[in-house]
Amino acid sequence: MPLWHDYHTPATVEEAIQTLARYDGEARIIAGGTDLLIDLQHTMQGRHTLAALVDVTAISEMTQIEEQDDLIYVGAGVTHTGIVDSPLIEQKATCLVESCGVVGGPQVRNVGTLGGNVAHALPAGDGTTSLTALNAEAEVAWHTGQREWLPLLQLFKGPGLSAVDSTRDVLIRFRFKASQQQEGTAFKRIMRPQGVALPVLGCAVWVKLNDSGDTYADAHICIGPVASIPARASEAEQALIGQPTTETTLDAVSHTARETLHPRTSKYRSTAAYRDYMIETLLRQALPLAVERARTGVAQAEGVGMG
Ligand SMILES: Cc1cc2nc3c(=O)[nH]c(=O)nc-3n(C[C@H](O)[C@H](O)[C@H](O)COP(=O)(O)OP(=O)(O)OC[C@H]3O[C@@H](n4cnc5c(N)ncnc54)[C@H](O)[C@@H]3O)c2cc1C
Repeated sequence: MPLWHDYHTPATVEEAIQTLARYDGEARIIAGGTDLLIDLQHTMQGRHTLAALVDVTAISEMTQIEEQDDLIYVGAGVTHTGIVDSPLIEQKATCLVESCGVVGGPQVRNVGTLGGNVAHALPAGDGTTSLTALNAEAEVAWHTGQREWLPLLQLFKGPGLSAVDSTRDVLIRFRFKASQQQEGTAFKRIMRPQGVALPVLGCAVWVKLNDSGDTYADAHICIGPVASIPARASEAEQALIGQPTTETTLDAVSHTARETLHPRTSKYRSTAAYRDYMIETLLRQALPLAVERARTGVAQAEGVGMG
């Protein structure tokens, strides 16, 4: 049994919405296909043939990376490799390069997209973890004809459940603040060597230091997966703000993060106890790196290609 019948490659978001509407829920968006084709082959075990796939990777509005008024815009159809190769993102949102740079292997990164990572709606998605720490917003074209910017986290409704119905709606692009002076980001993760497709645990941080660079003025932290949807570690963030960038603060924030985040055991990836332990390990790697980047203004992504 074929997995799909028709294949469309619309040139605009509007054309994609109209094409999906014609199939009335029986067609689905495909980007890189790295998640979708596995879902179609294994989860559905070939029992259901989609009427059509609507490929969004030729929509130019969805494949751009640009900076406007201190905001960086990244199309949902930009591949992980496209993000890794962007000097703009490496300098001004380093954590996103570090997370996209460890997704799968080169073949997966060359076709897998940031939009697919988010639309798949898993709380462990590496790109998702960094977008959360960057406090990103997402632009969605709803099947009603409306376009809307909304906070990224509003898209997540449960594991694998997105507010964007990929049989009708299109996730167009993301935007987030470019790092300014005294700001820095970093991403670290733990992955099993023979990785199933998602990390044991990932951690992305964004920090803003005071003018003298010795105190946390603001912080965003995302550690995942620790719940059914991605979330900011708000208690840990509060434990940083106004505190000096010292070991004592690192001890305190690690303690708060472990007290307030409650990862669960997953059959294929890790016990809850191991993940709990790794919260501290990841924070101790990511936070000082983000602080150093904020102080020096030098942001060279680490670990890219080491996934
Ligand atoms: C071997 C392997 C290793 C992997 N390793 C990792 C890893 O280390 N870390 C990680 O996070 N992920 C990993 N993944 C998962 C996957 O590669 C990523 O999540 C990737 O970003 C998915 O993007 P895609 O373009 O391939 O999505 P697709 O498979 O094309 O789509 C995924 C879902 O999103 C929907 N969709 C896609 N784009 C849009 C859009 N613009 N608007 C609305 N709906 C949309 C599709 O309909 C589908 O439901 C791995 C996958 C494989 C096969």
